[in-house]
Amino acid sequence: MVNATGRLAPSPSGRLHIGHARTFLVAYWRARSQGAPVVLRIEDLDAGRCSPEHVDGVLEDLQWLGLEWDGPWRLQSDGLQAIRARAHALLERGLAYPCVCTRKEVALAQSAPHGDEGPRYPGTCRGRYASMETARAASGREPALRLVVPPGPIEFVDQLHGARAIDVQAQVGDFPLLTRAGEPSYQLAVVVDDARDGIGEVVRGGDLLEVTARQVLLQQLLGLATPRHLHVPLVVDAQGVRLAKRSAGLTLAELRARGIAAERLVAAVAASCGMAPRRAGAPRDYVDLFRLEQLSSTPQAFDSEAVSFYPA
Ligand code: GLU
Repeated sequence: MVNATGRLAPSPSGRLHIGHARTFLVAYWRARSQGAPVVLRIEDLDAGRCSPEHVDGVLEDLQWLGLEWDGPWRLQSDGLQAIRARAHALLERGLAYPCVCTRKEVALAQSAPHGDEGPRYPGTCRGRYASMETARAASGREPALRLVVPPGPIEFVDQLHGARAIDVQAQVGDFPLLTRAGEPSYQLAVVVDDARDGIGEVVRGGDLLEVTARQVLLQQLLGLATPRHLHVPLVVDAQGVRLAKRSAGLTLAELRARGIAAERLVAAVAASCGMAPRRAGAPRDYVDLFRLEQLSSTPQAFDSEAVSFYPA
C-alpha cells in the first residue's frame, strides 16, 4: 500500500494566517482522504525567528481551526543531534565540505526560503580544506558545512504542477547543511525529519516548490526515500499580494477576535478547493469531499470578506 502519511510543519515565527490555514487544511484533507495519519512537527530551528511564545500561538491557531493530528506533536529541535549527524556523515563521505565564507550568507539558509534567497554560492571553499580542523586552523573561524552539489538537473514530480527538472548547482550552487554555529539548514532538517516521521506525502505551500529539488538531491545522497509532493498554491490578497508579506487583519487570531467562527473559514477554504458548498463545519466534515483533481494550481485570492460572507 502507498504510504500517504502526511504532516503539518509550521514554523513558530508568528501567528498563522489564512494562507497557512488553507495549506494545512489541504494537507490534512489529502492525508485523511487516503485513510492516512497526519503528524504535527513544529519547525523551531531558526532561533532568530522562532520562540516558545509563537509555539503556543501556532498550537492555539491549529486547535481553533479544528485540525487534528495523530500522536503527540513534537518540536524539530528535539532531533537536532540526528540531523547534525547526517551532515557529518556526508562530510566523511566527501560529499560536503567546510566553508569559512561570510556568516550572513550562511545564516540565510536557516529558514525555509520563501523567495528571499541570496546569490548563488560560487564554490569558493570547495576543495580548499581537508577537514573542519584544517579550515578552523587556517581561517581562525568556525566553518560552516556545504553540500557538494553535482551539475545538471534534479528531477521530481509534483502532483499538482507536474514533472520538474531543476539545476540546483546553477540555481544556488553548493548550499549549506550546517551554519557556522552548527545549526542545520532548513533543507537538511526537513529531509531528515520527513524520513524520521515516515512521511509519504509532503503537502506544503507553493513557495517551496523550487527548493524541493535540493531536498530530493539530499534524499538521494542520504539513501532516503523521496516522498510524493503536492505544493498548494499560495493565497494572495485582493491586490494579488502574497499573505506572508501582508497578513494584517488576516491572521487566525484576528479573525477569531472579530468573532468569525472557524467553521466558516473552513467552509470558505473548502469551497476554494472546489468542494461543493456545505454547511460550515469542522475540517473532518470535509474529508470525504476532498478531491485532488479539483484543486487549482494557480494562486488563490482570499480575504476576510470571503470568510465573513460564507453562510454559517
Ligand atoms: N516550516 C516550514 C515553513 O513554515 C515549512 C517546511 C515544509 O513544509 O517543508 O515555512
